[in-house]
Amino acid sequence: MSAASRGQGTGRLFVVATPIGNLDDVSARAIEVLNSVAGIAAEDTRRTRKLLARFSIGTPLLSYHEHNEATAARRIVDRINDGSDVALVSDAGTPLVSDPGYRLVSLCAREGIEVVAVPGPSAVAAALSVAGLPPHPFYFAGFLPRRQSARRRALESLADLPCTTVFYESPHRVAKSLLDMLEVLGDRPAALARELTKVHEEVLRGSLSELAARAGEAPLRGEMVILVAGSGRQLDVDGGESGEVEVNDRRIPS
Ligand code: SAM
Repeated sequence: MSAASRGQGTGRLFVVATPIGNLDDVSARAIEVLNSVAGIAAEDTRRTRKLLARFSIGTPLLSYHEHNEATAARRIVDRINDGSDVALVSDAGTPLVSDPGYRLVSLCAREGIEVVAVPGPSAVAAALSVAGLPPHPFYFAGFLPRRQSARRRALESLADLPCTTVFYESPHRVAKSLLDMLEVLGDRPAALARELTKVHEEVLRGSLSELAARAGEAPLRGEMVILVAGSGRQLDVDGGESGEVEVNDRRIPS
């Protein structure tokens, strides 16, 4: 229901998750919301246009990306305050998860605007669900820094976490990052989930040294998530302590 039809002065912000590859993963509610709002704030309007075309959605697009976040957030909030419902999407997956959106959501929260989640795909949850590593607790680290010195410092700050750590990574840096993880974190159980929901979907499981060796043999392409088991004694799924994690039918001390 739009704000106008509710007869109230202020609209709402809908934070809408979109597919991470397979367009059939879009939810029925996401389509309904994207159809009914007055505008859709999108990271890359060309990319979102393809999604909208697939589902015959004609809603106008507004540009909202990391380079215009501050000014665009203000414009969108003004529009919502004038009574329009607006949706926020990113190029893929859930907005704000290593994607723009935080400024807009926090501004809405500060101004008392209702922010509604329309949940759906996110690579962190998809990867965690298939990796075969202890799923909780987990720590989402997002992207590591590009520069090696900063990357290693970031890894050092995570080294003592007693839980599975999830990283987003680019194909250009994956081989170097796996080697840095091996050196800084030690040879822990790990997994690499690639191209999830797409044609070349693959989950590689093994120790960090095995994954680093695999990445050194031939380039690993596509979008990928790296998951690394926690240090020391990681809590198992029942809340007890498990001293080892099973990878490829072998039990590796964690
Ligand atoms: N907001 C998105 C989400 O909810 O997952 C993440 C956006 S971030 C800019 C893009 C990164 O997410 C990629 O570099 C990769 O690490 C991960 N990713 C996105 N789609 C993926 C897929 N289909 N398979 C594996 N990883 C993916």
